[in-house]
Amino acid sequence: MRKIALPTDLSENAFNAMEYAVALFNEPAKFYLLHAYADQIYGPETLDFSDEELENKKQLTAQNCNLILQPLVKKIQEKFPGSKHEFVVLPHCGYLIDEINYLIEKENIDIVVMGTRGKTNDRTITFGSNTLQVIKLVKCPVLCIPESYPFKKPKKLLFPTNYMIPYQKRELQLVNDICSYYKAETHVVYISDFGVVSKRQKSNQTLLKTLLDVERIHFHQVAVSSKTNIINDTIEKMDIDLLVMVNSRYSFLESLLVDSTIDKIGLHPKIPFLILQNYIRN
Ligand code: ATP
Ligand code: MN
Repeated sequence: MRKIALPTDLSENAFNAMEYAVALFNEPAKFYLLHAYADQIYGPETLDFSDEELENKKQLTAQNCNLILQPLVKKIQEKFPGSKHEFVVLPHCGYLIDEINYLIEKENIDIVVMGTRGKTNDRTITFGSNTLQVIKLVKCPVLCIPESYPFKKPKKLLFPTNYMIPYQKRELQLVNDICSYYKAETHVVYISDFGVVSKRQKSNQTLLKTLLDVERIHFHQVAVSSKTNIINDTIEKMDIDLLVMVNSRYSFLESLLVDSTIDKIGLHPKIPFLILQNYIRN
């Protein structure tokens, strides 16, 4: 059974991401609604609290979270009657990144699905600070859903790559599962002025052909110019509905993420964005 982590800050953006995830994985699946609330407990307003007051505040917050999370589950179940989905709610007095990493290890999570933004929802930026942190630091694929993006069956995936790093079988399997279920095409775009020449590139390309459905995989090459422009233009021109990129050390995506320059550089995907992490996991 697929295991999906759904971090939520109880915002509309997070709920929309949750709805997308539940619709996308129309199969037996277990969803973990994770809400990390250490920020609320250890904020400036509790600086002068006694241990007892802090303990009370923790308990009250835990109760409140449950009161909000349970109806969220109910709401989603009502939208997808008869689905083979299980839900677990996990309010935790911890910090998001720690809690999410712990959950990924413990439950062997397949994918994290979250909003590109959350409660603050500043429309001048693309990714909220929590999303950026999760993208950078977790070891499993992360799917980010933009504000109000409604679920529609993915038909065309865009996968920009330089074929330099071997892909992880488990991650490609996930992509393949989505593609075969929705009969979606994968458009692999190689941005380079040279062919796929080296042994390594060739073997990585072969890996893609082996692990993804050859019938529905298309290989393209585009001459070098701004990678961001190429990605943005291709999304627009080809009517792409899922952007897939690999975040590994020294990748193009990592170079954007390291300085959080993702916003400055202008990669503002208005479509769901799946980040593969390229970690070896079983
Ligand atoms: P920022 O917090 O940087 O001001 P924001 O609130 O718009 O901006 P994020 O906090 O990054 O953006 O929220 C993006 C997503 O991260 C949310 O849609 C939700 O999925 C998840 N998230 C954010 N905060 C929490 C939290 N405390 N617990 C669980 N998930 C969270
Ligand atoms: Mn936030």
